[in-house]
Amino acid sequence: MAHKYVYFFGGGKADGNESMKELLGGKGANLAEMAGHRDLRLPVPPGFTITTEVCTYYYMNRKTYPKGLREDVLGSIRRIEKLIGRKFGDPANPLLVSLRSGARRSMPGMMETVLNVGLTEKTVDGLIKQSGGNRRFVYDAYRRLIMMYSDVVMEKAAGIEPESDESGIRKQLEKIMARMKTEKGCKTDTDLGAEDLRELCSLFKAKVKEVIGRDFPDDPSAQLWGGIGAVFSSWSGKRAVSYRRIEGIPDEWGTAVNVQAMVFGNMGNDSATGVAFTRNPGNGEGEFYGEYLIDAQGEDVVAGIRTPAPINEYSTSDHNRDLLTLEKAMPKLYKELFSYQRRLEKHYRDMQDIEFTIERGRLFMLQCRVGKRNGPAAVRMAMDMLKERLIGRGTAVMRVTPAQLDELLHPVIDPKAEALQRVLAKGLPAGPGGASGQIVFFAHDAVQWAREGKKVILVREETNPEDVEGMRAAQAILTARGGMTSHAALVARGWGKCCIVGCGSLQIDVARREVKAGGQVFKEGDWITLNGTRGSVYAGALPMMEASEENVLLAGFLAVCDTIRRLGVRTNADTPEDAKRGRQFGAEGIGLFRTEHMFYGKGSEEPLFRLRKMIVSTTEAERRRALDELYPYVKKDIKGTLEAMDGYPVVVRTLDPPLHEFVPHDPAKLASLAKELSITMEDLSKRAENLHESNPMMGHRGVRLGITYPEVSEMQVRAIFESAAELIKEGKHPYPEIMIPVVGDVKELVHQFAIATRVYKEVLAKYGLKKIRHMFGTMIEVPRAAIVSGKIAEVAEFFSFGTNDLTQMGFGFSRDDIGGFLPDYLKLKILPEDPFQSIDQEGIGELIRMSIERGRATNPALEIGICGEHGGEPRSVEFCHRAGMDYVSCSPFRVPIARLAAAQAVLRDPPKAKARRK
Ligand code: PEP
Ligand code: MG
Repeated sequence: MAHKYVYFFGGGKADGNESMKELLGGKGANLAEMAGHRDLRLPVPPGFTITTEVCTYYYMNRKTYPKGLREDVLGSIRRIEKLIGRKFGDPANPLLVSLRSGARRSMPGMMETVLNVGLTEKTVDGLIKQSGGNRRFVYDAYRRLIMMYSDVVMEKAAGIEPESDESGIRKQLEKIMARMKTEKGCKTDTDLGAEDLRELCSLFKAKVKEVIGRDFPDDPSAQLWGGIGAVFSSWSGKRAVSYRRIEGIPDEWGTAVNVQAMVFGNMGNDSATGVAFTRNPGNGEGEFYGEYLIDAQGEDVVAGIRTPAPINEYSTSDHNRDLLTLEKAMPKLYKELFSYQRRLEKHYRDMQDIEFTIERGRLFMLQCRVGKRNGPAAVRMAMDMLKERLIGRGTAVMRVTPAQLDELLHPVIDPKAEALQRVLAKGLPAGPGGASGQIVFFAHDAVQWAREGKKVILVREETNPEDVEGMRAAQAILTARGGMTSHAALVARGWGKCCIVGCGSLQIDVARREVKAGGQVFKEGDWITLNGTRGSVYAGALPMMEASEENVLLAGFLAVCDTIRRLGVRTNADTPEDAKRGRQFGAEGIGLFRTEHMFYGKGSEEPLFRLRKMIVSTTEAERRRALDELYPYVKKDIKGTLEAMDGYPVVVRTLDPPLHEFVPHDPAKLASLAKELSITMEDLSKRAENLHESNPMMGHRGVRLGITYPEVSEMQVRAIFESAAELIKEGKHPYPEIMIPVVGDVKELVHQFAIATRVYKEVLAKYGLKKIRHMFGTMIEVPRAAIVSGKIAEVAEFFSFGTNDLTQMGFGFSRDDIGGFLPDYLKLKILPEDPFQSIDQEGIGELIRMSIERGRATNPALEIGICGEHGGEPRSVEFCHRAGMDYVSCSPFRVPIARLAAAQAVLRDPPKAKARRK
C-alpha cells in the first residue's frame, strides 16, 4: 500500500487519533479524536490532516510534494464535499476550507493560517445563497481572504521581503480600507456596507497586482495548493524559527496542515460562536461555563468589541446579566452542546476548553484541548475529579503545579488588572505574592508609618539585620542589590512576605528620598505594587485578590500528596511562632533553627546587647560573664521551639554568622556598651576594629567561633540539653539535633562533639535523667566537607546540606553580590538559571551526590537532609528525592510546595519509590 500522507476525519470516523501527535500535530490529533473516537463522534466540520512527514519531505525535496499527495488531497476534498453537501469551486453551492498549521507542540501564533479558501468571483454568489442572501457577510469574507492570502501566500511564503513594514502588502491594503472608511465617514469596519466591501475587493486585487506583480488567484485549486505550501513554508518563517530556538523544539519535527470545511457563526441570527469550559477555570466549580456571541466569528469573542453573552445562568456576571443566555436563546442546541462537553471531559478525564460554532441552527465542535486554570481551580478540580473517580491519586497530584499551589498561599495581584500595566522594573522573585504600598526608604519610617496605619513598601539598596523591624512592618520589600539568598530574600521568604531583590535598574537616592524606575521618579509616599512571584514592579496601587488561608481543600490535597511522597518535609524556623506555623503547614520537624536570629528584630534588644558584650570581651572570664547573662534568652527560644515541635526533630544550629555583623554602629549603643563593660569608648572602638574582617563570609564564623571560643558552643549546647531536660520533666518529647555549621574537616567536629558530650553528661546528672533523645551532626556547606564526607560521617550522625553556602563556595559566587553579573550569565545562557534558586545539578549537585555516597558508605544510618533555600524549590526537591535524601527543609510558607514537589518526584521517578522514609 502507498504511504499514507493524508488522514481524514469527519462523519463519525477518523483515520487518526489523539496518540498520533507526532504525525498529525496536536490540533490534528485532537480533531481526529473528537471526530472519530467511538465515545465521542462529535460533529466536527469534516477535514483532513496532511502529516508532518510531508513537511519534512517538502523541505528535503526543494519544496515539492511526495508522489500521490495531490490525488490523496483531492480524494479527501471529495469526501468532505459528500459529508457537507457542498462542492469545492461549485458556483451554485461552494465549499470553503480553512488551512491551519499544527505542530507536535503548540506554537501559538508562530505559523500561518489561511481561511475562506475556495472563495472566488465565481463562487461568491453561491455563498450568498448559502448565507440566506447575506451579501455583506460574503464580501467581507472575500476581502479578508484577499488580504490574508496575498500577505501569507503571495508575499511571505514567496520569500518577498518588503523594504519596510509599511511597504508590505497587508499594510498597503489596510491603508486602502482606512481611506475608504474616511471617505465614507465610517468609524468601524462594520460600518462598511456590502457594496463598499465589494468595491474594496476590486481595489485590493488591483493593489496586489501592482505590488506583487501577480494576480490574486481567483481559482479554488490554486488557492488550495498555494495555501498548503504557505503553511509548510511558515515552519521556517522567522517567528517560528526563533520560537523553536527558545523552546528547544527540533527543526526536524515539521508542522502538519489541517484542511477543514469552513463553518460560519456569522451567517445571521441563527448562527453563533463561543468558547466554553467543562468546569469553571476561575474557581474550579464543576459547572459548565462559557460565553458566546450570536452572528459572530471566533475572533469576535476574543476581540472584546461586543460583550459576549453567558451560555447559561451559571456563567452570568454583573457585566453580562442582561444578555440572553444560549440556554434560553437556543435551548435545543445548548442541550446538545452540554452533552458533548460532558462526553469530552469524561473521555479526556480533565477539564476541556472548547470552541464551538453554530451555523444556521447546526452545532459544530471546532476545537478541544486541556483548559488552563488558576491555582485554586486546579486544586479544586483535582480533588473533585478524584472524588468522582475520574482520576486516581497520582494523576490528581500531577494536576497541580507548584506555582499553582503557591497561588493559594499568598495574596496576588488581580491578573486582569496586572495584564494592563507596564512593568517599571524587573528583579529577582524573592518572596511570592503581590503587595501594594507607599514607598519608604528607611526601616524606622516603615515602622512609624505602619504604626499610623499606612501600608508601606520598604525600598532599599540592600537590607541588613538592623532593618528587620522595618521589613516586618512593610507590606513588601524591594531592593536594588542582592540575590535569592541575600538577607532580604531569606527573611522575607521566612515570613511569606512579598519581596523583590536585585532589581538593578532602580536608581535609589536615599538623601532625596526618591527612586527612579522605568523612566519615572517616585518619591517617598508614592504608591507602587510588587509581584514577588514574577519580580515585576508597577506604578500605583493595583487591586489584590486574597488567598484563602484556612483552606480545607488545600489540606485535603496535601494529605493526598503525603500518601505518595517518600521525602520528609521539615521547616526552617527561628522562633516558636515560625515553628507553630510550620506545623500548621504540615512540617514534620525543624530542619534548621538559626540561633542567631534571636538577635534580630522584635524583642532582640536585650539579648543583642548581651551578645555584643560577649563579642567585644577580651578575656574568657569577661566572655563567660556575658554568656551567663545571655543564656536565659537562648534557652527560652530553644525551649519554646522544641515545645512547639513536640515529638518532632528540631535541628538547632550553633552560632554561624561572623561576629562583626553584630558590632553596633550607633554611637548611643556604643556608649552604653562601653559603660556596661567599664571601658572607654576608645578602648571599645579598638576592640570592635579588631573584629573587622575583609571577607567575613570566609572569615571567623561557624564552627571556627566554637573552636576559638569553646565556651560559646558550651553555652548553646547547655541551653539545648537543659531545655530538653525540662520538657521531659514536663512530660513532653523533645528531640533536638545539634548541628555544627561551616565544617570542613572532621577534627573540627570531634572538637565540638567533645564539648557536647561533656555538657550532655553534666545535664543528665543535674536533672537525674538517663537519656535525652538527640543527635549530633553537621552541615555540609563547604566543598571540602563534601569531599571528605566519608571521614566526617565517622563522627556525624546526620548531614544537612547548606546549599546556600555550598553554592556560594562551590561557584565562588558571593551569595549577596550576584546582582551585578548574574543577569548577563542568564541572558548569554552561560548558566541556565540562578544556582541560588534551583540547585546546579551538574556541579553542586554532583558534590552532594558524592557526599551522600561517601557519608553513607561509612555510616549507613546517616540521616541526610537539606536546609539551604533550595529545600523549597520544586526541581531541587526532585533532585533531593533522587539523590536519596531523607528530608528537605524550607521556610514555613514553602512547606506545602515541598510536600507537593516531593510527591511529584515519586510519580516521575517511580522505581525508587519504596526506599527510606523516616
Ligand atoms: C546554607 O548555607 O545553605 C544555610 C542553610 O545556612 P545559612 O543560609 O544560614 O548560611
Ligand atoms: Mg550556611
